Amino acid sequence: MTEVEVAVVGAGAAGLWAAAVCARAGSGVRIFEKTARTGTKILASGGTRCNLTTTLGGREAAELFRQSGARFLRPAFAALSPERVRERFAAMGVPTVEAPLAKIFPASDRARDVRDALEREARAAGAEIELDAPVVRVERGGRWRLVFQDGRSVTCRSALLCPGGQSYPRTGTTGDGYRWLRELDLPVVDPVPALVPLSSPAPWVHELTGIAWQEGEVRLALDGKIVAKRRRPVLFTHRGVSGPGAMDVSVHVAQAGAATLHLDLYPGLSRDALRARLIESARAKGSPRLARVLPGEVPRRLAEAIGQQVGLKEPNPRMMDVPKDARHRLIETLKGLAVPVDGTLGYDKAEVTAGGLALDTVDPRTMEVRGCPGLFVFGELLDLDGPIGGLNFQAAFACGELAGRAAAEQ
Ligand SMILES: Cc1cc2nc3c(=O)[nH]c(=O)nc-3n(C[C@H](O)[C@H](O)[C@H](O)COP(=O)(O)OP(=O)(O)OC[C@H]3O[C@@H](n4cnc5c(N)ncnc54)[C@H](O)[C@@H]3O)c2cc1C
Repeated sequence: MTEVEVAVVGAGAAGLWAAAVCARAGSGVRIFEKTARTGTKILASGGTRCNLTTTLGGREAAELFRQSGARFLRPAFAALSPERVRERFAAMGVPTVEAPLAKIFPASDRARDVRDALEREARAAGAEIELDAPVVRVERGGRWRLVFQDGRSVTCRSALLCPGGQSYPRTGTTGDGYRWLRELDLPVVDPVPALVPLSSPAPWVHELTGIAWQEGEVRLALDGKIVAKRRRPVLFTHRGVSGPGAMDVSVHVAQAGAATLHLDLYPGLSRDALRARLIESARAKGSPRLARVLPGEVPRRLAEAIGQQVGLKEPNPRMMDVPKDARHRLIETLKGLAVPVDGTLGYDKAEVTAGGLALDTVDPRTMEVRGCPGLFVFGELLDLDGPIGGLNFQAAFACGELAGRAAAEQ
């Protein structure tokens, strides 16, 4: 049986960060990684560009993690704000740049630079990394004991568990951590895929494949009640809807099974402004057709789908042929095109897993599990998920920072 001071399970974003902090503070740290390389998900992230944090301030960024997540993350984002993450990467030789929608990328646009810097930093701090070392069980005793697939075991003073969730299982994350937590009798909120494209049963939605709407606001309704909204682009696909707008609200669909997504195509335009525009076009010379009248570049297929939803006899009519009651329905549809959704595309296509270790079980200042001295849980294994935009890496790094510091102090 091998003994180490601090064992980190999972060489992903959270584990590499925590290991570097802990080793730099003087602890003997060994990382155990199931796969043959570190940070596979980092390499795949942001379309291989890695959106590593956000331009938002710490408090504002935390607010995006729903109510319980926001409260939990406050100490972590205060200890390591998005701005500090950028400074730390710059110090590691990875300068960063701002991009639209409050995103931060490495200036090189290479996720590999981010992964390499994190690994280099952990090794330089003195952490050892064991690859191809899948943990199969975590046991409690005087010290924490990790049991590996090949039967050997390692004991440690502090066990830092950050094996990720179960999304994109081909990157090494197959939900192992949830099983360990349940075996330790710790409360796990049922995992569901999140930040995932949605499926729709409606053929008219599939016919819009390839159309992207940049300026919309998505509102997700369950049983007629709006439970989430997000102003982000949406993409129609052959299965349903994708793009950040749809993916950011997808966790609610994963939990509920079916819902209606209302797409406000013109969140910046009031109903009155739209009405004035439509009336003006009805009176204009030649009375242009619907697809030409709608503000923005509305593809004809989308305009016709809107016409069909409104129940117009001709899907792309001249505006003078649209009666008043149909014009009213048209405005309502433009302010909330109702897209039925009946599920998600599952873990294979989900960027993160929602659910995980219940947050009230964990001390938000240290990531130590209450009643389990020396056991730290953070990263995606926690019941914590943020929207697209570098927020999930920010949470992994900031929680890793606190866990690394606290484990070093034990
Ligand atoms: C395609 C894609 C794109 C993404 N893009 C972004 C983005 O641009 N910005 C952003 O903020 N977030 C993004 N995310 C989400 C982000 O990758 C995760 O939130 C983040 O990686 C979570 O960090 P983690 O350290 O908790 O888990 P991970 O980074 O998943 O690391 C967990 C590690 O643990 C290892 N492991 C698992 N089981 C075991 C075991 N039994 N024994 C030992 N090791 C084990 C895994 O192999 C893995 O290396 C993206 C996710 C995906 C799938």
